[in-house]
Amino acid sequence: MATDYDAPRKTDEDVSEDSIEELKNRRNDKNSGKVDEDEAEAAEAFELPGADLSHEELTVRVLPRQADEFTCASCFLVRHRSQLAETRNGQMYCVDCAG
Ligand SMILES: [Zn+2]
Repeated sequence: MATDYDAPRKTDEDVSEDSIEELKNRRNDKNSGKVDEDEAEAAEAFELPGADLSHEELTVRVLPRQADEFTCASCFLVRHRSQLAETRNGQMYCVDCAG
């Protein structure tokens, strides 16, 4: 069968191509990772002042809250239940805001 001869060859090519792809991906991962972090930090810096919390609340409402999530009563961010630190008067606070 011809495919028997072709199969090993293709595998060799795939291996070398894969290693090149891997290197490319690694570079991309490093670059995109850096950009993402910077963007996330910039976004957080913008949200930190907290003078205009009403805007933030609107942004959060656009996203459907999942059953295992809650909205922090202090920072108005939707958090996973594992980050719920305190419930006071029916208000839930995340680990960041409860201290
Ligand atoms: Zn919070």
